Amino acid sequence: MQSLDPTDWTDLRALGHRMMDDMFDQLQGLRDGPVWRPMPDGARQQLHQVLPRGPTPPETVYETFQQLVQPYTTGNLHPRFMGWVHGGGTPIGMLAELLAGGLNANLGGRDHAPIEIERQVIAWAAEMLGFPNDASGVLVTGTSIANLIGVLVARSASLGPCVRRNGVGNTKLVAYTSAAAHGCLPRAMEMAGLGRDALRMIPCDDQGRTKPDLLAARVAEDRARGMRPFLLVGTAGTVDIGAIDDLTALADFAATQDLWFHVDAAFGAIAMLAPKLRPLLAGIQRADSVAFDFHKWAQVPYDAGCIIVRDASRQLDTFAAEAAYLRREERGLAGGGIWPCDLGPDLSRGFRALKVWMTLSVYGADQIGAVAQQTCDLAATLAARIDREPALQRLAPVALNIVCFRFVAAEGDLDRLNADIVADLQEAGIAAPSTTTVDGTLAIRAAIVNHRTNHADIAILVDSVLELGRARAGQGAEKKVPPVIHRGQVYREASRLGDAGARGPLPATGAGTLAAVPP
Ligand SMILES: *Cc1c(COP(=O)(O)O)cnc(C)c1O
Repeated sequence: MQSLDPTDWTDLRALGHRMMDDMFDQLQGLRDGPVWRPMPDGARQQLHQVLPRGPTPPETVYETFQQLVQPYTTGNLHPRFMGWVHGGGTPIGMLAELLAGGLNANLGGRDHAPIEIERQVIAWAAEMLGFPNDASGVLVTGTSIANLIGVLVARSASLGPCVRRNGVGNTKLVAYTSAAAHGCLPRAMEMAGLGRDALRMIPCDDQGRTKPDLLAARVAEDRARGMRPFLLVGTAGTVDIGAIDDLTALADFAATQDLWFHVDAAFGAIAMLAPKLRPLLAGIQRADSVAFDFHKWAQVPYDAGCIIVRDASRQLDTFAAEAAYLRREERGLAGGGIWPCDLGPDLSRGFRALKVWMTLSVYGADQIGAVAQQTCDLAATLAARIDREPALQRLAPVALNIVCFRFVAAEGDLDRLNADIVADLQEAGIAAPSTTTVDGTLAIRAAIVNHRTNHADIAILVDSVLELGRARAGQGAEKKVPPVIHRGQVYREASRLGDAGARGPLPATGAGTLAAVPP
């Protein structure tokens, strides 16, 4: 017989314990390593092999993982990873992934406890957003898919469930969102068969918020042309600068115009857990649907996105195969009410809910909110420091946790220079901000999301940008950093700056760093 379980479990058990210890070591020692290492070509090539026909001892495969995979990840665990909007993960989330893998539950449907955990997580999400407790929802990979589901539910709410049989045809449906909306929204319109041109990107004010007067004018214009406005998408936390639309004004407008009001709150939704930030999202509780991620600001390991829909019947109308779900068994394993497969496109699904449930249970929603607050406080510190440095220029207001700035004490092509500074920082392993474009200007973008980031990390980022900028601009000759950066050298530089930062007037560790409360 060919069972894949071992006959003697001793060695595998020992290997499992070793893996666990190694991962704890890595998490405990994050600060001692670089944020990111470019993957050498040799390592890349070694990973590409023909399909293995025979067995390999798990210890050997684990060794390959340790040598070729573990050192070359994106670095988002690291306190000085500030690129894009990536969550930092937690040790509890890691353990939950192990447990979920052990159970190998399929959360498409049927009657079992893992589905009750997902229902609990959805109910907590509804509670967090101020939604009614009979709101529906599912966990998905991320906000891209959650936004797609939002568009699809809005589409069938507008055209009726018959759209599932008839297709969209030439419906003239048009939707509205901010010019600063995430790129997954036009893609959602493409995938929904409505076309990206049917998404009107409304210009923003100087704070990055959708301008309500321009929105109203565009809707009126479309109606006059015989188009059918059906959907308004607000953003709570734009991906570039963290701007939050006036959600109350948008909710009012959607109500008067009979538009489905969806909010992309990919990371911003978690601000609902921080008392000082929560008012910024006022109006979100009036949305028809909200898409957000647990894997960004809530620090749950990838992937964990979520869609919440106020009126469950709308979500069922969009996805449930009536025949199947109306005739579901009253008793036995095939019972159990509404199944997750009635609420989204997936049938087989993993037990994502466990890591969300364990994260919220172990740390508590207040501590997750405190971490979100802490990252905003760090962003404010960073913005204040930039405003004090003549060599730096801030490029956007800081609504939440994202700071866009650039080095300006140089002649010539500042876009090129700042892109080089970011690449230098990343390749040296010092810090990993990303770049974006603000009003046509290339910006260094620090999105502070990780619960491990502290004031010393902010100091290292700024000091390193100044040092690299001056070196590249041919200044600062008394302390020469070569324009071609040698990783080790700059990394040692970062450690030196790190010590200086830690000894400075600012506290080295944040109060909200996620630590499990001892029992
Ligand atoms: C990150 C982000 C998305 C995409 O979310 P994924 O989880 O990466 O699919 C959408 N909108 C905004 C505002 C985001 O920040």
